Amino acid sequence: MLSCRGLFGFATTPIFKSSRALSASSLEDLVEEVATTRRLEQVSELLHWDSMVTMPQTDGHHAARGVQSQALAGVIHERSTSPKIGALIAAVDEKCLEGKELANFRLMVKAYKESCVIPKDLERRKAQVSSDAYVAWTKAREASDFDLFSPLLGEAFSGRSDVSVHPFTTSFSPSDVRITTRFDEGEWYQGLAGSVHEAGHGMYEANLDGECRAVNSPLSMGTHESQSLFWERHVGMSRAFSKFMGPKWREAFGREESDEEIYRAVNTVKRSLIRVEADELTYPLHVILRTRIERDVVNGKVSVGDIPALWNSGMKAMLDVDVPEDSKGCLQDVHWSGLAIGYFPTYLIGAVAAAQLEHHARMELGNFDELIERGEFDAIQAWLRGKVHRHGSEHSSIDELFKEQLGEELKSSYFIKYLTDKYSSIYDL
Ligand SMILES: [Zn+2]
Repeated sequence: MLSCRGLFGFATTPIFKSSRALSASSLEDLVEEVATTRRLEQVSELLHWDSMVTMPQTDGHHAARGVQSQALAGVIHERSTSPKIGALIAAVDEKCLEGKELANFRLMVKAYKESCVIPKDLERRKAQVSSDAYVAWTKAREASDFDLFSPLLGEAFSGRSDVSVHPFTTSFSPSDVRITTRFDEGEWYQGLAGSVHEAGHGMYEANLDGECRAVNSPLSMGTHESQSLFWERHVGMSRAFSKFMGPKWREAFGREESDEEIYRAVNTVKRSLIRVEADELTYPLHVILRTRIERDVVNGKVSVGDIPALWNSGMKAMLDVDVPEDSKGCLQDVHWSGLAIGYFPTYLIGAVAAAQLEHHARMELGNFDELIERGEFDAIQAWLRGKVHRHGSEHSSIDELFKEQLGEELKSSYFIKYLTDKYSSIYDL
């Protein structure tokens, strides 16, 4: 009987032994080949990290980094699309794989197919545009002059890549995960919330299986955001966390506000121009506005030059705020300069998923609030590790992951209920 276990060295009959052995060694070679490329991508992420965090912010430095990133992008593209990969994939018998092994193989095939349809020149151009656009965006935002950014933004809309925002988290491997945050001496909470948020991203990356394989990567950006938002909102902005933090806060700042007053201050709802400063109730509107604009530009309904006016009228209609200048309007986010077009919905998917995870964590742990009040976060971390982190990209989507781990697909009802209950209570609605 033909047994697929033969692939891993338990060959049964000699007649199949050689082809199975070939398949097994092809898989091994393929995994190693892809791992080396992944390591080069990690080097590219390291270059990006450096350019955002430690590199001197001069035109000269950015120009040099742009050329380096472009060169590396070319090498990575060559390796990802090499006929060798195609031949190794063809030599593997998918029927003999299961579980994580199968998921890993499918991810490698998908990545190969996706890379092959992108010409090398486009890949190199993307790296260059992303570098140039970032510099143009910082200058445009500083001068609040959309025209300085507009030409490169037009190019950015013709490409797309994954890029992190500032503050951000980068993982070079599960044993080297770095976060940045920002602090404002006049306002203590943003720094804490930003750190908790990025730590949530970091824990996800750090809890992935360490072997350099496609399956040991985060499932999606939406899933990633669910991890940061879970900690930022469902732990850090909870009433229970105010009880944990209150005494420490009063001592550190010499203040007298009660835990409940801190809780209400942290959860104040106020219409805002700036997405990253928006409260969780009005935040979805910021995402919806950006997504509508992106969709219309991509579909050719409007042009890049229309963005400032669309933005300002959208903000007025949705949030009833007047945008005084583009730096507080359409130039506020770094994403488009990094070719991250269509990225914003991941924040909303993350928020929806985080609320659903809280519901299930509450049911399964039984003492969710007590754990937070006592500052005992280990059990919560372990729960997330078991439900989300350790599965990496084994499932094809967050729906599949949730179906398996929570017994249901991603649902928006938990998020709506969470917002309704929380803010009805705070504002006595
Ligand atoms: Zn995030």
